Amino acid sequence: MSEPIDSNEQSSFYIPEEFLSLAEDPNSLTSQMAARFNVEPKTFINWRWQMKHQVTEGAQAAAVLSLKEQEAQGFEQLNHLFNAGITPYYMGLMVARLGDDECPIRLQALPRVEELKDSLGVADPLSEVAHSPVREVVQVYPDRVAFCVAQLCPVYCRYCYRKRRDEEAGLHFNRAIIDRGIEYIASNPAIRDVLITGGDSFVASDAAIEGLLQRIRAIPHVEIIRFGTRTPVTLPYRVTDRLAKILAKYHPVYVNTHFNCAEEITPEAAQAVANLVNNGIPVGNQAVMLKGVNDSPERMMALCRSLLKIRARPYYVFHAHSVQGTEHLRVSIRRGIEVMKSLRGNISGMGIPAFILDTPSGKIPVQHNYVLGHDGSDLILETIRGEIWREPDVF
Ligand code: SF4
Repeated sequence: MSEPIDSNEQSSFYIPEEFLSLAEDPNSLTSQMAARFNVEPKTFINWRWQMKHQVTEGAQAAAVLSLKEQEAQGFEQLNHLFNAGITPYYMGLMVARLGDDECPIRLQALPRVEELKDSLGVADPLSEVAHSPVREVVQVYPDRVAFCVAQLCPVYCRYCYRKRRDEEAGLHFNRAIIDRGIEYIASNPAIRDVLITGGDSFVASDAAIEGLLQRIRAIPHVEIIRFGTRTPVTLPYRVTDRLAKILAKYHPVYVNTHFNCAEEITPEAAQAVANLVNNGIPVGNQAVMLKGVNDSPERMMALCRSLLKIRARPYYVFHAHSVQGTEHLRVSIRRGIEVMKSLRGNISGMGIPAFILDTPSGKIPVQHNYVLGHDGSDLILETIRGEIWREPDVF
């Protein structure tokens, strides 16, 4: 039994006031894209309108952008494998860089025929199904679980490692799945940290999100609640001050979002993050290293600097999982280490995310090895400038 995202206390015409100045600015992406979609900017900033008008077909995308051959074919040939779905807002990021042959937004959101060629990809690279003691509760570590309550997303990212969940209907805020998950968490006192994810955990009514928070917060051994959501990136109008105030009632609550490139950091996205941070909700960013999106020192630096400016802390960069259909987007781990190394010394430590290889047995931090060995009681290290440093060790 899925909860329709439309049925709640909020009227379909709810206008988040904090986004009004962007709606009224004729130069903003919001007002320019509203004109392209032939709606009032005040309607464009309604997240339900955005979800109802997701671009799912090649013809809809072609009305806004001129599609390349591989993209047009991608829409035609891939919809039976992994549906396309892109909010009008996120389409706006592509429109903003028409003529950019290397547009990092298109690579993430538009289907391409290259997805049909993949020699390594699998459906469930983290063996999440095998690590689920009950449906949609993934447990790799004793003290925490990922609770996949959502199935819908504002944008279906082409590299998503949970694509497999697209095949089955009815997973979105499914009452029976949530009941069983809550029961499992409540009966396992070792679980102190619950990550609410999906799909996108913010694609639900305020009431549904608050109802879930109430139930999890009522479990005495749960200390920390985290949300995984890409809405600040793909549907910033969803992250209203009103939603943030609801989350803040259940502190400690953390939000991890998922910007992959500086081009995604718009005034709209900055407002979404500000709504969270201004309500005391720490925001971290988990990116995925993707070819053509952020796999160069310059692009990764631009992302990390831009994140700090909007108060989203760069937290992780994941090596891309070997998910079916993503070979054209994957980057070697060796290249990933080089890109991450290039940040050292060029941005403060709080702007440097950990580079992570996620495996069915947990996360493995990978980085350039600065510890070269021991010489007697001295530790021999490489400095960030490539010099040798000898540090007397303590025994
Ligand atoms: S928002 Fe997250 S869950 Fe949804 S498609 Fe993108 S990566 Fe996958």
